[in-house]
Amino acid sequence: MSRDPVIVVGAGIGGLSCALALRQRGIDVEVYEQAPKLREIGAGVQLSANGTRVLRALGLEPALDAWAVRPHAKEIRHWKSGRTWKLFDLGIVSEQRYGAPYIFIHRADLHRILADALQVHAPDSIHLNARCVGVEQDADAVTLRLEDGRSARGRLLIGADGVHSAVRASVFGAGRPEFTGCMAWRGVIPRDRLPQGRIPQAGTNWIGPGRHVVHYPLRRGEVLNFVGVVERSDWLIESWTAQGTRGECLADFAGWHPDVRALIEAIDLPYKWALMARSAMTRWSEGRVTLLGDACHAALPFLAQGAVMAIEDAYVLARCLAACEEDVATAFARYEAARIGRTTRVVDGSAANAKRFHNPRLADDHGAGDYITTEWSEAKVEQRYDWLFTYDALNVAI
Ligand SMILES: Cc1cc2nc3c(=O)[nH]c(=O)nc-3n(C[C@H](O)[C@H](O)[C@H](O)COP(=O)(O)OP(=O)(O)OC[C@H]3O[C@@H](n4cnc5c(N)ncnc54)[C@H](O)[C@@H]3O)c2cc1C
Repeated sequence: MSRDPVIVVGAGIGGLSCALALRQRGIDVEVYEQAPKLREIGAGVQLSANGTRVLRALGLEPALDAWAVRPHAKEIRHWKSGRTWKLFDLGIVSEQRYGAPYIFIHRADLHRILADALQVHAPDSIHLNARCVGVEQDADAVTLRLEDGRSARGRLLIGADGVHSAVRASVFGAGRPEFTGCMAWRGVIPRDRLPQGRIPQAGTNWIGPGRHVVHYPLRRGEVLNFVGVVERSDWLIESWTAQGTRGECLADFAGWHPDVRALIEAIDLPYKWALMARSAMTRWSEGRVTLLGDACHAALPFLAQGAVMAIEDAYVLARCLAACEEDVATAFARYEAARIGRTTRVVDGSAANAKRFHNPRLADDHGAGDYITTEWSEAKVEQRYDWLFTYDALNVAI
């Protein structure tokens, strides 16, 4: 077997988790990231027990505890009246029921925690300013081609380079991600700018016809993460992330509850983000190359599972490679068998939540009450989320 390292393209949440899980098994790994600096956008991410279980196994729990918020619950609120329903209990309930916590964390904090841990286990294994433009392979090795003309050789390569994946394009052909018809407003709000006493510390989903808002605290409650999703067919902006204005965001949420509007008023710099997805893939691997995370199953973020799926992929893939190190084809076949069905279900479930969150029955307060009580009954919530949170990437059959 070649002594070349495993190459990971992309130092996002999925790529770094994978590199760490490989190092934990004594497998040499080199990570190539296009950005000149390791950084993440200023926004939060929710990680359910199926993700934190993996991060705990990677030895990251103490660092996560120093930065994350462990919410006691998540709530649903009606866009206009503000009436509140329980979505689910968290806190100790998540530990008791699913064996790991549910957390809210700033993406920059999670990213730094992953990168720092990798630097400890494999110093200098992250190469910045290294933009992949192509991948070539033969029977013995795979070669990563970089934009600046350099190349790197590995015994296998993992494309963790997100929804616009160059690895995927190189191996499976171009094919662009598609605009889903939804855009997201994103921003963070410092606690001292929040309307006093009006914003609960639970995670909150405001739902209304054609749009919804999610907010939750980060960094021990020092800032609040805001995401406002709007169905729009008029997306004309080419860029992936673009700066917007508070006025434009307020116009998108005209008539919404004063708490939501107060939050928008308090955002420093609202960003607009086109939500992209791709049609599901039935195969992620070709020869010595495979994919993980958004590169192979980007979804609408309406189950809050995209980063968690990338983390699960990373761990299961590392287990498969450690189990069949001499036999890449078998390792990749086992990885796909363990993961494709589940991630496809997440892609479909996230799209179904778009219809649920944006349902026209939410328009008037009266009809909304019956609709929410039925759609978010304990039995239905359990059916929608239990299969996600109970998944154990550490022990699932491979
Ligand atoms: C509004 C919104 C809210 C979300 N909320 C949640 C949530 O609460 N919980 C959750 O689990 N998920 C959430 N997600 C989804 C989550 O952000 C993604 O699924 C997750 O970031 C995917 O991780 P990844 O590592 O696969 O890709 P990415 O995070 O996109 O990382 C890819 C990395 O590859 C690098 N790269 C790209 N191209 C190249 C190249 N050619 N060469 C080298 N490097 C390259 C990039 O710079 C980046 O560092 C949300 C998404 C959005 C849009």
